[in-house]
Amino acid sequence: MRTVDLILKKRRGERLSREELAALVRGITDGSIPDYQLTALMMAICFRGMTDEETAEFTLEMAGSGSMNDLDRFAGGRLVVDKHSTGGVGDKATLVVAPLVAACGVPFAKLTGRGLGHTGGTVDKLESITGFRASLNNDEFLQLLRDHDLAISGQSDNLAPADGRLYALRDASGTVDSIPLIASSIMSKKLAGGAQAIVLDIKVGSGAFMKQRAEAERLGRLMVMIGEQAGRRVHAVLSNMEQPLGNAVGNALELAEAIATLRGEGPADLWELSRRESIELLLVGGRARTADEAAILVDAAIASGAALGKLADVVAAQDGDPRQVLQPETLPSAAVVRPLNSPRSGYIRRIDALTVGLAAVHLGAGRAAKGDPIRYEVGCVLRHKVGDLVEVGAPLLDIHAANHADAERAAQELLRAYAFSDEPVAPLPVLLE
Ligand code: URA
Repeated sequence: MRTVDLILKKRRGERLSREELAALVRGITDGSIPDYQLTALMMAICFRGMTDEETAEFTLEMAGSGSMNDLDRFAGGRLVVDKHSTGGVGDKATLVVAPLVAACGVPFAKLTGRGLGHTGGTVDKLESITGFRASLNNDEFLQLLRDHDLAISGQSDNLAPADGRLYALRDASGTVDSIPLIASSIMSKKLAGGAQAIVLDIKVGSGAFMKQRAEAERLGRLMVMIGEQAGRRVHAVLSNMEQPLGNAVGNALELAEAIATLRGEGPADLWELSRRESIELLLVGGRARTADEAAILVDAAIASGAALGKLADVVAAQDGDPRQVLQPETLPSAAVVRPLNSPRSGYIRRIDALTVGLAAVHLGAGRAAKGDPIRYEVGCVLRHKVGDLVEVGAPLLDIHAANHADAERAAQELLRAYAFSDEPVAPLPVLLE
């Protein structure tokens, strides 16, 4: 089987067979197929697509390209759950949902990435905590799951390595935003991660990979189908990413907001999404039979402080300072904090998530390339959301920066995220479907 024949076949819009996909993934994993052929193939997939069955077969092959975690034995008969967001700005829901469902008695295991581009990563946010160790070996990961029903770790290179190779090439070859490539990339890692029940948060809007609702729905359906074909229980939530989720954008700022949410004091949209995802996880995980029953457990775990306590316990178990969870004012803080004031009176019509995410990256919260250092303390905190009425000169948000020059530059950039209206504007719903 010659790779060039597979490229030509895909270029003609034909379906690759299971055997061809298996040979392809072998060649990706062992390095025998060169980068130029892989990028040509991915470009052909971008233009010609893949059938749903073809995408599912490709995903299963990629999932099996490295080690596959078997979490069955570690949960005392309970299903282990995982959650995945397709990526957004200010999306710290995992930091709320993971300890919350674990406190409800549902084992939660997540292998997760760092932020890349304008979207943040859970590992970076947790590493704002002094001493926190996000890279766990397999034994440590499983021990945490056994002891606390909660394990979150940076992803090892041995998890779906075929995707690791493709993903690195996709960023540089303009082939990221293809529905079959995104679905197979995410689901191969989820399947290899080993959770038996998964909730997916498919983001749609300016700050998401999927800008249009119809394509986000297609991506969600495809990922659910792939997971179910692999024998996993999967629910998907479609959520809004036109404006940042919650108020905080930036690693330590987002962690502090997640902690406030675990105390029952978080922003309404972050809590609404986190609560819904937690309810879905209790349902797919078999902990509750109805959404009402799940909601009672979820609300009780917040009210009793059990969810916050669970986060503090796991942080301590990963060598982090648990006092920073209980007193988030001790998390790293920026040298300069300055407000961005509104240039006019009116209703806020738009707070463009992509622009805010990029401004946070430019302040140092994210990285331009894998491996770049980041600043945990910088970012911004919105004081208003779409639909709010503001007076000229009133603060729209606070910029947290390393110095005055960075803060000034961010102010110019962030101003471009805003649009105003003289007429009332409806608030944006966070849950779409
Ligand atoms: N996240 C992934 O892991 N893969 C994609 O293709 C997009 C987002």
